[in-house]
Amino acid sequence: MNITITPSLQYMGTESTKYTLNCVHCGRQYRHHEMACTNDNGLLRSRYASRHLHMHDLPGMGRFLDWLPVSAPMHTCSGPLTYKSTSLARELGLTNLYIGFNGYWPERGAHIQTCSFKELEAYPTMQLMHESGNHKLVLASAGNTARAFAHAAVGTDIDVYIVVPESGMSKIWLPEEPTDNIHFISMAGTCDYADAIQMAGKIAALPGMTSEGGARNVARRDGMGTVMLDAAVTIGRMPDHYFQAIGSGTGGIAAWEASLRLKADSRFGKILPRLHLVQNLPFAPMLHAWQHDRREIIEDIDMPGAKKLIDRMYADVLSNRHPPYSIPGGVYDALIDTNGTMYGISTHEAQQAKALFERSEGIDIVAPAAVGVAGLVKAVEEDALNRDDLILLNITGGGVERLKEDFTLHHLQPEFKLDSPDIDIELLLR
Ligand SMILES: *Cc1c(COP(=O)(O)O)cnc(C)c1O
Ligand SMILES: [Zn+2]
Repeated sequence: MNITITPSLQYMGTESTKYTLNCVHCGRQYRHHEMACTNDNGLLRSRYASRHLHMHDLPGMGRFLDWLPVSAPMHTCSGPLTYKSTSLARELGLTNLYIGFNGYWPERGAHIQTCSFKELEAYPTMQLMHESGNHKLVLASAGNTARAFAHAAVGTDIDVYIVVPESGMSKIWLPEEPTDNIHFISMAGTCDYADAIQMAGKIAALPGMTSEGGARNVARRDGMGTVMLDAAVTIGRMPDHYFQAIGSGTGGIAAWEASLRLKADSRFGKILPRLHLVQNLPFAPMLHAWQHDRREIIEDIDMPGAKKLIDRMYADVLSNRHPPYSIPGGVYDALIDTNGTMYGISTHEAQQAKALFERSEGIDIVAPAAVGVAGLVKAVEEDALNRDDLILLNITGGGVERLKEDFTLHHLQPEFKLDSPDIDIELLLR
């Protein structure tokens, strides 16, 4: 067969033709694995060749392979689960409340063993790494992301280097024995998450290393987007409202992007679900900027004395000092495009919501997920919804207590303990 390769399609020669990667702002096309538009720093978004979502007969999130930026299925039964709530719905006076449960709850068919939706990001990212011939992945995390990527890396040919502030190591466990391709590097007591990020940046700059890219990684966003896809195929249409606790807001962007694809598919409705994004007070820079109709986050105004604010959070996983809020295609644009809104939740409100959810639905949830539940409670109190509206509540993590009944948790130890981000890491990793 004779194929003429046009300049803009040149990349496609060696890459799968399943999708292209385009800047959300100027439309320019990029190679797979690029992370930002060189023109305007816009997010790159995957554009899938198949406009209709064909479900694959695969376990877990593999069902959504059509709209994941990987060629081959991932080896996992981990995936999103959607079910209709009766008890919590009744408590709140809602008739169409659906729960997207992302955690461990085998009785319901939820098999995310690290108990958060970060696993939905980890598997496609690892698969993409494998397919692109990159074998050393670097990330910084304070908890759920580290567990998810470590778990997804068990037994694979990809070395993962995960930098964690020492205070976060207690949250690092796996439901299985780790394999020796998983490397934890802890940053001593005085170092915080920002130092971990800095160190991860240094490691990622070493030859052969790949940074996972955070919100800019389409495998992460499209993986998280499967929560919205699962809801749409389970319910038969897109929900009217989407509730989620956010720290970076990447899940909100992902839900928006997934709904744009569902809208283009045309079988799931024409109206984008309204994003209801929930931050945990007192550290809520996006909420603050949003309430002042600003695309820019101004540090001195929106998060003065960030460290002290973060120390007072109920769910400190939700602290992110540099969220992808302002960038083209980021959280601000997602809120504008979906007529979205934001909430701020106190410790007390989150604790109440956690108790309410666990009592009514009968499964434990993690602190950040409780913040999301509290957002829904607030929306109901403020009459921001009609009681018959179709609502999707993303329970971003849960079932840790349930998991402990079935598995022994293996707590991991760091391979290196570093005192400061100034250390010459290259010497250590030789
Ligand atoms: C990371 C995380 C969030 C926040 O997700 P973003 O969309 O990235 O802000 C919420 N809940 C849990 C359990 C998380 O691990
Ligand atoms: Zn651009």
